Amino acid sequence: MLRSEVRKASISVNEIYPSIQGEGLLVGTPSLFIRLQGCNLRCPWCDQPSALTFRETSIDLKDLIREVEKYPHKHVVITGGEPFTEESLPLLVEELIRRDKSLQIETNCTLWQDAMEELAPQIHITCSPKAVAGWFVHPKIRRYAKELKFVVDQELSLDVLLNFSDFLQREVVVLQPEGNKKVFLQKALEMQLRLLEMGYQVKVIPQVHKFLGLK
Ligand code: SF4
Repeated sequence: MLRSEVRKASISVNEIYPSIQGEGLLVGTPSLFIRLQGCNLRCPWCDQPSALTFRETSIDLKDLIREVEKYPHKHVVITGGEPFTEESLPLLVEELIRRDKSLQIETNCTLWQDAMEELAPQIHITCSPKAVAGWFVHPKIRRYAKELKFVVDQELSLDVLLNFSDFLQREVVVLQPEGNKKVFLQKALEMQLRLLEMGYQVKVIPQVHKFLGLK
């Protein structure tokens, strides 16, 4: 039985599709992706241009939940766009937790919603700081994120990574070469070695789904 606030809520969705998690620490996990619509940033290499603009149109949250229930996937990835721009995010998260889903949110780390406070510890939050936001990470995201993922491009430097010693010490930092390009893979491996010499273990993980020809 859906709660009345859920029955009344709407949500702006770009697409929903099954695949495997192709990025980060949970790579290989069979996942249902919910891509929300709208982002507060504009990264030059963004690979989801259709998910950036904020649309007037939305669907009923209850319809989205019914759609999720059609899939056998236990792991649900809420991505974007930027999920924290969506007002109905806490309601969606709460409903999916009630349905025993394991949840992951991929965020650019710049925004927060207070209604997420009690839910956040139950979610695998993947925080991916962006150069266009000055690598800003909201303090609440910094508190709850279980993974810090950097896209390695021409902008990323070792100094930026060293600002995140809390994550480096927990060994939850992932370096992801931008567009799986060789030049950025090389840069990521060099950074990994420099950090290793400083006593930090970071992982270099490309976008595996792209190698497999998956969405
Ligand atoms: S934060 Fe993510 S969705 Fe938004 S512009 Fe950057 S890469 Fe694209």
